[in-house]
Amino acid sequence: MTDVVIVGAGPAGLTAAAGLARRGLDVRVVERDEEAGGVPRHSAHPGYGLRDLRRVMSGPAYARSLVERADDAGAAISLRATVTDLRPTGDGADLDITSPSGRERVSVRAVLLATGCRERPRTARLVPGDRPGGVYTTGWLQRLVHLGHGSPGSRAVVVGAEHVSYSAVVTLADAGCTTVAMVTELDEHTSFAAFDAAARLRYRFPLLTRTRVTDIQGNGCVTGVTIEHADGRRGRIECDTVVFTGDWIPESDLAVRAGLDIDAGTRGPSVDTGLRTSAPGIFAAGNLLHPATTADACALDGQRTVNAVAAWLDDKRWPTLGVPVHVEPPLLWCCPDRVTPGDAAPLRLQTARSMNRPRFVVSQGGREIWSGRLPFIRPTRPFTLPPEATARAAVDEPLVIGVDG
Ligand SMILES: Cc1cc2nc3c(=O)[nH]c(=O)nc-3n(C[C@H](O)[C@H](O)[C@H](O)COP(=O)(O)OP(=O)(O)OC[C@H]3O[C@@H](n4cnc5c(N)ncnc54)[C@H](O)[C@@H]3O)c2cc1C
Repeated sequence: MTDVVIVGAGPAGLTAAAGLARRGLDVRVVERDEEAGGVPRHSAHPGYGLRDLRRVMSGPAYARSLVERADDAGAAISLRATVTDLRPTGDGADLDITSPSGRERVSVRAVLLATGCRERPRTARLVPGDRPGGVYTTGWLQRLVHLGHGSPGSRAVVVGAEHVSYSAVVTLADAGCTTVAMVTELDEHTSFAAFDAAARLRYRFPLLTRTRVTDIQGNGCVTGVTIEHADGRRGRIECDTVVFTGDWIPESDLAVRAGLDIDAGTRGPSVDTGLRTSAPGIFAAGNLLHPATTADACALDGQRTVNAVAAWLDDKRWPTLGVPVHVEPPLLWCCPDRVTPGDAAPLRLQTARSMNRPRFVVSQGGREIWSGRLPFIRPTRPFTLPPEATARAAVDEPLVIGVDG
C-alpha cells in the first residue's frame, strides 16, 4: 500500500516527495499536467531556488532540478493524472485519480495537498464589457508563449503591479508584444523598486496607479479598454491583449470537497505549525496555504511536512490543532492559522496596507508574548515573522497579532 500520495508536482510537492522518499517511504506524486515542476516550468526567467537550493536559477532549470531530486530519492510521479475526489477516513484517506486510462480508487495512510494557487481571471474580477479573445492571466499567457501553444497580440494592457505583473511584461516582450500600460488600483506598485525601474526603463510603459479597467471592448479580439482614475476621470487605451495578473486564490477545491476546515483569510485549508489540516492524515503545503509566496518558501513548506508526515505514519497520533491565531487590520491573514505550543514555526502574513518599520505585537489573553519590527510590508507580498514570535505561546487562549508603525 502507498504510504503517501502527494497531490501536485510543484516546488512544495516535489520537495516533500524527495524528503519522504529518502526516509524509505513509498511516495506517489499525482500531477494533472503532462510534465512535473508546477508553475516554474513555464516561468522562463531567473529568480528561483535561492533559499531552498542556495542558488539562483531560471524557473525551468529549477523545476528540472526538483523533479530529479524526487526521482533520485525514489518517489513515483504519475503525470496527466488528476485527483478528482478526496474522502478522509479518520486514519488516512480514499482518493479518486482520473487519467487517460480511467478512474482509479486509492486508499492511503497520508495525503499532502500541494495544489498551489491561481490568478483570479477576468470573470471572477467582474470586469464588464464584450467577451473577446486576447484576455489572459499571467499563468495562461506563459503557458501560451513558453509551452509553444500560440502568441498574444502586439499591444497589451497589464492589470496589476506586483511581482508577477513584471514577469508578464517580460513574457509579452519575449513574444514581440509591447506593454502599452500597467494599471493598478493601489497607490503604488508592490514589487521591488529595482524590478519596476529596470522594467520601465527597458520596456517604456506608463504605470497608472489608482486606476482600474472598467470595460473591455472587442468583437472577436480585444480592441481596447476603458480605464477610470480614482478622481473619476475616464479614458480609453487601444490594445489587442489584456493580462490580469496576481490577485491569487488557492486551488482549494479538493480541500473543500473533503470537508476540511477552511481559513477565512487565505481561503486555503486551516493548518497548524506541522501543516496538519483538520482531518487526521491530511497535510497541506505551498501556495495552497499562502497565496502567493515565492517558490523557495513553498519548497521549504514541503520540507517542513516531512517530519510531521513521518511521525503520523509512525505512531498514528494526530495532535489537537493548537490555539487559533487571529490578526488585526490591516493584516489580512496568518498561515499557519493555528499554533501548536512547543512547535514554533515561521508565520506568513499578508497586509492590506503599506507600512514602513511596522512593529508587530503577539499577545495571548491580553499578555504580550513577543514584539518585533520589520523594515517594511507591502500589500500583495506575504511576509514572514520568525518562529520566536510564537515560541512562548501557551495552551489556552487564541493568539492575536497586531501591528502599528
Ligand atoms: C508568472 C510567475 C512568475 C513567478 N516568478 C517567481 C520567481 O521569479 N521566483 C520565485 O521564487 N517564485 C516565482 N513565482 C511563484 C512560484 O512559481 C510559486 O511560488 C510556486 O510555483 C508555488 O509552488 P507550489 O508547489 O505551491 O504550487 P505550484 O507550482 O502551483 O504547483 C501546483 C501543482 O499542482 C497541480 N495540481 C493542482 N490541482 C491538482 C489536482 N487536483 N490533481 C493533480 N495535480 C494538481 C498543478 O497542475 C501544479 O503543477 C512566480 C509565479 C508566477 C505565476
